[in-house]
Amino acid sequence: MAVQKMRVDVEHPENANLPKRVSYSQMSLYQQCGLKFFFSYIHNWQEPPTSALVGGNITHLVAEELYKLAPAERTLENAMDILRIEGPKFLARPENKLFASDFSMKQNVREAVENLFKVESPHEVVVLPEHLEMKLRVEINGVEFTGTVDRFTQDGINRVSDYKTGRSPGRFLEGKLTQPYLYALAFKTQLDIDVDEVELIFLNAQESFIRPAKVELLEDAGKQLAKMHADSKKDLADVAWDAKVSRLCDYCAFQQACPAKAVDAPKPGSSSSDAILAGAGLLRK
Ligand code: SF4
Repeated sequence: MAVQKMRVDVEHPENANLPKRVSYSQMSLYQQCGLKFFFSYIHNWQEPPTSALVGGNITHLVAEELYKLAPAERTLENAMDILRIEGPKFLARPENKLFASDFSMKQNVREAVENLFKVESPHEVVVLPEHLEMKLRVEINGVEFTGTVDRFTQDGINRVSDYKTGRSPGRFLEGKLTQPYLYALAFKTQLDIDVDEVELIFLNAQESFIRPAKVELLEDAGKQLAKMHADSKKDLADVAWDAKVSRLCDYCAFQQACPAKAVDAPKPGSSSSDAILAGAGLLRK
């Protein structure tokens, strides 16, 4: 993907600091664009939920509840019953109400749930309830890491699995594997458990990928985390962050206040910049 980099001077709020703990999504966001990270985590602007995000969250909820059932009860019929209960509950939350009549999103969720039964046989998956949506918190290379693992299975092979919704990863697969590699490293560091394999399951695309959790790949993920943390510390000290212009800018909620995209945009973090984002309907976290 073609990326153009531009160093942007900003204004920090008083006592600005980095988040105490770093998650994979924060790391990934920073790698995509430092200025976007600045808007999200230094100035705490909230990106509005998207149809894809809401649909992905509902799909994850259904998978989690399905795998809490005894193996024989993990049927498509029961999965659809869970969807009928969990979907409306999730969409009733104030922040998601906007999507209550998003039929295309609902259709994508139904397909994702149906596809779960095409990419694997849920009744054969050996998983404990406490190994679903597992919370990890551990220091890795001097960085406080936090993460939630969709599923950890032990059936002779220790495997960390993560579901994805949306399109096939195509040539971006290797980059997306950094997330489960980082989780595998956290398992080793926090729990002294050796993960043998990592798995990404792309439900809408009906594709699943299993890779051996090689030590060097886990270490590389840990180095990426340390680099992200060191680089963001420097940006904080410099009061300047790298804007990375790419095709992903089309989906960025901060475009109107980004000097790399809008030439007249005021200094990010200034009251004029804040007014633009507030005017665009964005809220603080
Ligand atoms: S519009 Fe692009 S360059 Fe600007 S903050 Fe968003 S992702 Fe970064």
